Amino acid sequence: MNATPLNWHERAAALKIDGRIVIDGERRAAAAGETFDCLSPIDGRSLGPVARGRTADIDAAVKSARAAFEDQRWAGKPPAVRKKILQRFADKILAAKDELALLETLDMGKPIRHSLAVDVPSAARCIAWYAEAVDKIYDEIAPTAANSLALITREAMGVIGAIVPWNYPMIMASWKLGPALAAGNSVVLKPSEKSPLTALRLAELAVEAGIPPGVFNVVPGHGGEAGEALALHMDVDAIGFTGSTRVGRRMLDYASRSNLKRVYNELGGKSAVLVFPDFGDLKRAAETVAGSMFFNQGESCNAPSRVLVHESIADDFVALVAAQAPQYAPADPLDAGTVMGALVDDQQLRTVMGFIAAGRDEGARCVVGGQQARGDSGGYYVEPTVFDGVANGMKIAREEIFGPVLSVIRFKDEAEAVRLANNSSYGLQASVWSDNINRAHRVARALRAGTVHVNQYDEDDITVPFGGYKQSGNGRDKSLHAFDKYTELKTTWLRIDPA
Ligand code: NAD
Repeated sequence: MNATPLNWHERAAALKIDGRIVIDGERRAAAAGETFDCLSPIDGRSLGPVARGRTADIDAAVKSARAAFEDQRWAGKPPAVRKKILQRFADKILAAKDELALLETLDMGKPIRHSLAVDVPSAARCIAWYAEAVDKIYDEIAPTAANSLALITREAMGVIGAIVPWNYPMIMASWKLGPALAAGNSVVLKPSEKSPLTALRLAELAVEAGIPPGVFNVVPGHGGEAGEALALHMDVDAIGFTGSTRVGRRMLDYASRSNLKRVYNELGGKSAVLVFPDFGDLKRAAETVAGSMFFNQGESCNAPSRVLVHESIADDFVALVAAQAPQYAPADPLDAGTVMGALVDDQQLRTVMGFIAAGRDEGARCVVGGQQARGDSGGYYVEPTVFDGVANGMKIAREEIFGPVLSVIRFKDEAEAVRLANNSSYGLQASVWSDNINRAHRVARALRAGTVHVNQYDEDDITVPFGGYKQSGNGRDKSLHAFDKYTELKTTWLRIDPA
């Protein structure tokens, strides 16, 4: 515990950033010597150069990962040994908490208090949880005839390419790394070009913890360069992708154009919240929705961005949710009191402001927010924004905004609410608010989403699967189910001769 509060600005000024690639446990420049500038969304300033990985670098990383897999330096270790090493990795992440949190906040703009309280501990818990699990999973014997024995075993797949977004860089990376490494695979991680810094440090900490060099390599670079090279690589067995639906589509194309590698897509969302008049605590509903919507500047795949409210309570709900906005006013992410920070870059700022303009143009009413904030900081901030009078066909109701913009849509009855909620190409999460147990179950069953919350939105745990229906993706991150993605199922038949 720190006795005195840390001055995050001083620490940021003293921070030395190393943007070089990590392959075979060692830092190196990109093969072509190229770099790109890593800009902080807090103030638009450069944090330093980061290696611009391309095909040659991905080739080197995959070669290293393949060699590590082939000689079994990791997969060949007993699960209990992998467990111990991964637990050390998790401990090292926690021990480097301040540094990792600072890197995350500087790189993608989230408040330092959240990087410290959420991102670092969640990433560590994820690694530790899969470590704990790996020597407790048994294989199967099939109920076959007496003259044979059929073993059904799970084996590590080989080389996993992990391509992750910038909104929770460490957490998204750990959702891939935890199950993939615990199962014995080698991993090549391609972090977002907008947030490469913590991934590079994680690779160093992994080696310090005893994960053999080559087992976990990190190549930063652009999506259309390093990302494409990884997804097209003939020697990568599976891609664990988290990102937009647009790029997820490409992952399937890359697989079909290369070696038919498995593709697990965790994609975008436009999650609906359904608030019924028989829910007794409208204030708690509004507070929860605002808290989940504005957390991480609205840059969450599962942000509850479409709120469907019964017409009889809609005015009250809108007033209550709008009243929450001031406490989420964007502020300096390096101030420990800040709860909403900066959007990841100027492009995201323009995208979000474009959606706000589209909402107004299409006739929705902006109740609160709607403006850029802290313009003189040089960074990219947007006020928490609530639109009322939204129709489900409007752009702001159909498309993922990935910014702090909430749309309120009114409904007349349960059937309409369910129809509106399901009328989306996405199906990541949803939430039902009702004190009527029959309605809560009925609606939860009817919703086409990977996770449905009832009378809350903020529960989450590594023990439960996370992923979507429809164009929100296919695989599931987290929980024991994630092992399915990074293991092959093998059947071995043995003949048993009669005596
Ligand atoms: P993105 O799709 O633009 O990029 C994601 C990753 O893919 C990055 O590393 C990027 O460099 C890479 N990439 C981009 N173009 C590529 C290409 N042509 N070939 C190969 N790789 C490429 O997404 P983003 O803007 O970084 O992240 C936001 C998106 O992620 C949102 O849609 C959000 O909903 C989604 N997301 C989903 C989940 C989930 O679990 N379902 C979690 C977090 C974020």
